[in-house]
Amino acid sequence: MSRSINATHDPNLRSWVESANHKDTDFPIQNLPFGVFRQKNKSDRRIGVAIGDRILDLSACGEVGLLLELPEPLQEACAAPNLNALMTLGSWATLALRDRLSKLLQLNGLNPPLETKILLPMAEAELLLPANIGDYTDFYASIFHATNVGKLFRPNNPLLPNYKHVPIAYHGRASSLILSDTSVKRPKGQYKTEDSTPTFGPSQLLDYEMEVGFFVGSGNELGKPISINKAEEHIFGLCLVNDWSARDIQAWEYQPLGPFLAKNFATTISPWVITLEALAPFRCPGFSRPEEDPRPLPYLYSPVDAERGGLELTVEVLLSSAKMREMGMKPFSLSRASFKQMYWTMAQMLTHHTSNGCNLRPGDLLASGTVSGAEEGSQGSLLEITRRGAEPIKLPTGESRSFLADGDEVIMRGYCEKEGYARIGFGECRGKVIGIQNSDT
Ligand code: MN
Repeated sequence: MSRSINATHDPNLRSWVESANHKDTDFPIQNLPFGVFRQKNKSDRRIGVAIGDRILDLSACGEVGLLLELPEPLQEACAAPNLNALMTLGSWATLALRDRLSKLLQLNGLNPPLETKILLPMAEAELLLPANIGDYTDFYASIFHATNVGKLFRPNNPLLPNYKHVPIAYHGRASSLILSDTSVKRPKGQYKTEDSTPTFGPSQLLDYEMEVGFFVGSGNELGKPISINKAEEHIFGLCLVNDWSARDIQAWEYQPLGPFLAKNFATTISPWVITLEALAPFRCPGFSRPEEDPRPLPYLYSPVDAERGGLELTVEVLLSSAKMREMGMKPFSLSRASFKQMYWTMAQMLTHHTSNGCNLRPGDLLASGTVSGAEEGSQGSLLEITRRGAEPIKLPTGESRSFLADGDEVIMRGYCEKEGYARIGFGECRGKVIGIQNSDT
């Protein structure tokens, strides 16, 4: 079920796009992630492929005849204004397109084909949401995050008894998904004050959650579950997700039905979708459950998923306050964690989601839940890092933070590294908190 390693992963491949050959680029020729962009001063949306600091314009490639060897439905999908048509075609299409693009971008001594027509600087493009995202679901797949948060909300009963049996999730809100670099307005909401009376006002405990998202490729019909062995065939690719969370609103509203207004005011995603094909060299075993933990029920278990369902992806969170930017300081590192420590694999999450017959559609987004590890420095939210504000952190300016202040920018990064393979980056997922103005009532 998982994608295999092939010639497109060869670490010795070089591109005629020079910036793609720099050792620290997120987008070498072995990556080839998809996104949607608009050229400055133009109105049409186009699919692009990130290569070094450039974008390969797929519509333009089609127009000049560089994709003619591909099946017609795939050529048409490349000319679409978003990735949904490509996602609908399924993993054969992504594989065929990746193979074509790898050859097209390779340095092989020939003149680059029509370079000025098909390539533009990333800095001259406006990046847009990669797909029309119909539905968004947020899981809770890190047992370390679940335990850390559980301790704060329920000290005597941190991990609920269902956790090791069932992948927990809630249905999020697709309408407020926004692209990296879009500012996030501090939400207002209802929460309890120190004397326990409910009040309504700007959230005082605004937080981020470092998550990994994955897009559904081909979907399933209503009433037809996807088995664990087929689950990855229905995953198109991955991005970074910031599931902004208002902890004061959350604590007051979350029982009994789970998060509502504490999380649906904004969710930020990174612009480039890293395909499962690109990630093939970095697959690893899923979480190794201690002996005393229950085995997953049969519908959530396959030997291939246990062996290859994990992903060696490192994620990092950095913070830059308004004062730090004024003083020209570099962003401050808050945490670093590995996605391979998640208790549930992507295939288990997707399988569980459809196990009751629920239909997923191309372009739907599933997110992993906060990626936190067991070690100090690997917690993917301020709630965990500051123990709900009890242990504030110090920034290099001397400022302290329990939760996010107006003007703070949260920067998320992700990358896969492995001996013998090219490093694959996810780019960045950024968002700045803006305060509530007197004019917004
Ligand atoms: Mn979340």
